Amino acid sequence: MSFETREEVLENLLRQPKPSCPQCGQEMSIWEVPPINFSDGLGWGAPFLYVCFNDDCPAFSQGWDEIKENYAHTASTRCLIYPGTTQVEYMPVFGRDGGKGQILDRELVERQKAEEEAIKSGFRELAECYTEKNHERMLSMTLDAARPMRVRVKAAQMLKDFGQVESIEPLKNLKAGNSILAKAIEEAVAAIHERTFTRECPFCAEVIKIRANVCKHCGKEVAGV
Ligand SMILES: [Zn+2]
Ligand SMILES: [Zn+2]
Repeated sequence: MSFETREEVLENLLRQPKPSCPQCGQEMSIWEVPPINFSDGLGWGAPFLYVCFNDDCPAFSQGWDEIKENYAHTASTRCLIYPGTTQVEYMPVFGRDGGKGQILDRELVERQKAEEEAIKSGFRELAECYTEKNHERMLSMTLDAARPMRVRVKAAQMLKDFGQVESIEPLKNLKAGNSILAKAIEEAVAAIHERTFTRECPFCAEVIKIRANVCKHCGKEVAGV
């Protein structure tokens, strides 16, 4: 008996044609079994199942009335098949979108793979930046919204050690849209100020020397402020 990892099982399923629903004939979806099951805690015995998510499937469209009659619940059922078998079963769902979150398709899996690849290559680039002390590239990677968030956060963290005064302005102007990235940027700006003996003018927010008496940008008195 051979043991496959979840990924191997999924890869295999994605390569195979999906079965048609025995109830409605529509192609079934690969469904990732949620980690916690309804309430029995028994598990499904398989990491992925084929499920028919066609809303016009009789198992679903007529299931509402049947369950209401028999169990007085508002619920219906979706038709499912265990991969590698012809065993047909029905799982309860409590709404139109019940369980849909775990549908896996080729496109989604490809997107996840591309994201993982982008993270790997991003970290490789960051290792180069580190060796070269290339703060400009660290900055552009932090600002690049097309990069995975993990890469951008790591780039921002590296700017704590390598960022220069001119890095501060673009960092502050960035709309991070993510609290982890926002925090990393805030820490980087604070670290750059400390390392370069600078601070933000309390009146115009431009970068000034920590010991400046007068702001060279707005001309206001800043000594002791
Ligand atoms: Zn069906
Ligand atoms: Zn000022």
